[in-house]
Amino acid sequence: MSDTVEIKVPDIGDFEGVEIIEVLVKAGDTVEAEDPLITLESDKATMEVPAPEGGTVREMKVKEGDKVSEGDPILLLEPAGRTAEPAAADKPAATRAQDDTARQPAPAQSQPGGSADYDCDVIVLGSGPGGYSAAFRAADLGQKVVLVERYESLGGVCLNVGCIPSKALLHAAKVIDDAAFMADHGVEFGAPKVSVGPLREWKQSVVKKLTGGIAGLAKRRKVRVVQGTGAFTGAHQMQITGPDGQAQTITFANAIIAAGSQAMKLPMMPADDERVMDSTSALELAEIPKRLLVVGGGIIGLEMANVYASLGAKTDVVEMLPSLLNGVDSDIVKPLQKRMQQRLDNIYLKTKVTDVKAAKKGLTVSFDGEKAPKTATYDRILVAVGRKPNGNNIGAEQAGVTVEQSGFIATDKQMRTNVAHIFAIGDIARQPLLAHKAVHEGKVAAEVAAGEKSAFDARCIPSVVYTDPEVAWTGVTENDAKEQGIDYDKGSFPWAANGRSLGMGYDQGLTKLLFDKQSGRVIGGAAVGPNAGDLIAEVSLAIEMGCDAHDIGLTIHPHPTLSETIGMSAEAVAGTLTDLYVPKK
Ligand SMILES: Cc1cc2nc3c(=O)[nH]c(=O)nc-3n(C[C@H](O)[C@H](O)[C@H](O)COP(=O)(O)OP(=O)(O)OC[C@H]3O[C@@H](n4cnc5c(N)ncnc54)[C@H](O)[C@@H]3O)c2cc1C
Repeated sequence: MSDTVEIKVPDIGDFEGVEIIEVLVKAGDTVEAEDPLITLESDKATMEVPAPEGGTVREMKVKEGDKVSEGDPILLLEPAGRTAEPAAADKPAATRAQDDTARQPAPAQSQPGGSADYDCDVIVLGSGPGGYSAAFRAADLGQKVVLVERYESLGGVCLNVGCIPSKALLHAAKVIDDAAFMADHGVEFGAPKVSVGPLREWKQSVVKKLTGGIAGLAKRRKVRVVQGTGAFTGAHQMQITGPDGQAQTITFANAIIAAGSQAMKLPMMPADDERVMDSTSALELAEIPKRLLVVGGGIIGLEMANVYASLGAKTDVVEMLPSLLNGVDSDIVKPLQKRMQQRLDNIYLKTKVTDVKAAKKGLTVSFDGEKAPKTATYDRILVAVGRKPNGNNIGAEQAGVTVEQSGFIATDKQMRTNVAHIFAIGDIARQPLLAHKAVHEGKVAAEVAAGEKSAFDARCIPSVVYTDPEVAWTGVTENDAKEQGIDYDKGSFPWAANGRSLGMGYDQGLTKLLFDKQSGRVIGGAAVGPNAGDLIAEVSLAIEMGCDAHDIGLTIHPHPTLSETIGMSAEAVAGTLTDLYVPKK
């Protein structure tokens, strides 16, 4: 026993009296350096305490449920023949980081051998909104960060081929539609003349401004950007193959996987036919087809259908399910559906595409649905049937990271995967596949990796469909509330009674708020109408702040604005609404 050393709880940051939720070794066990000994759980983080060296456990000093702080004894270890410690500078990065701050959880596997071209505290795989936010936050917290991206342009799907270019084109579509509306009301511009080239260039210039900005921000923060395709080759090692085929190896203490998702394909679509588009090629705007079929009545399908129809393509939408935007409350979808029915040639619901035949004159599509024709021919097809996370393409198994069959990588609230020092964020982590969710998750992962107390504990994640009219919702939907048996009060306000909306030529909108009957707090909200996406932020804030109907109703909203519909929806529940007549219950 005289040869034993006491292993103590290392520096665990600001945590005091942290509960031991698992004791992973017992007296008599042999452990290797870095083997986890106990698992601690605070209200913000779960962390494993690793063995500082190998040996035999002689006596346990703790049990499950004990509360410990830095310096408390964990066990007595009889070291397995000590050899001279390597100098700190010779150790791989991850081990160094763990010595520096024991807050770093133990690796799932021991350090890989071999030399690295570079090592860092945090490597981020993928430069989309999740990835660049994680990289920048980690750098701001003093971490040495590498950001890996296969493409030359940073910003991921969102900035390059997603949120931003689609919204630029939707703006052009709205200008056309608004001009057409005003022609009936005394202001005529004449028929629009769409020049695809300049429109494409303008859209691309918007993308470039933003992606260039991200590159500049990376430089200023000294984030090392490495262009190439990254794949894990170990629990602390990634190989990156550059566009020239040259590979380099980077070792890391922590990794954040932010490799995003890709468009799903349909098996019956002809391969290698450029007339069959996904959202990326549709945003390239090669031409405005005479006849376009959009397969999928979800967010991306409807946004792109709106763009192409307003630019002049005769557009049909086919959707397998019984409604557009499946899952969204029907009263909120209805005004959009009505507008899309005017804008589009046909909407085929409960209809499947069963076959597509490619010929020179067009793509002949076979449908299976009550109200659809047997076949119809189109110049182009856009497939917008969902996105698949990229979890299966990054060598995750080499790092011991579990990837679900769907390609998602499950995480806990700290965004840790099953391997505690490897995090997953954004589209690759879970639904909803939205940029703002990715950003928040990225920041959490970066903060946890840097040893901060952080967790993803948002009460709501807003969703927006940027069609005209926009559709937006946050928190609990009415469908959810009914399914979950939540007892709720609903306050709604029709935009037909909102002066600003009428002045914008729109009288179909609706705002609604849901309040938990027991607590009185707002739990969800939704809106449909122009700029509904901007309005929903206030509802999200109210949910996060735990507001009740009086808090929202007594907040003075500027007049005349669309935001008044939120205040008045709350007043409808508080019983103070004067702009409509609500009969007393
Ligand atoms: C047409 C369209 C419109 C959209 N509109 C909106 C919207 O309005 N609002 C919204 O919130 N969301 C929108 N989205 C969704 C949004 O784009 C995604 O949710 C968001 O981009 C996810 O961010 P991310 O960081 O997880 O991944 P991504 O943005 O997908 O970025 C992942 C990055 O990782 C890189 N990568 C992948 N594998 C590797 C590898 N092995 N090595 C190196 N690099 C790799 C990719 O090249 C990519 O740059 C839209 C999506 C599409 C397709």
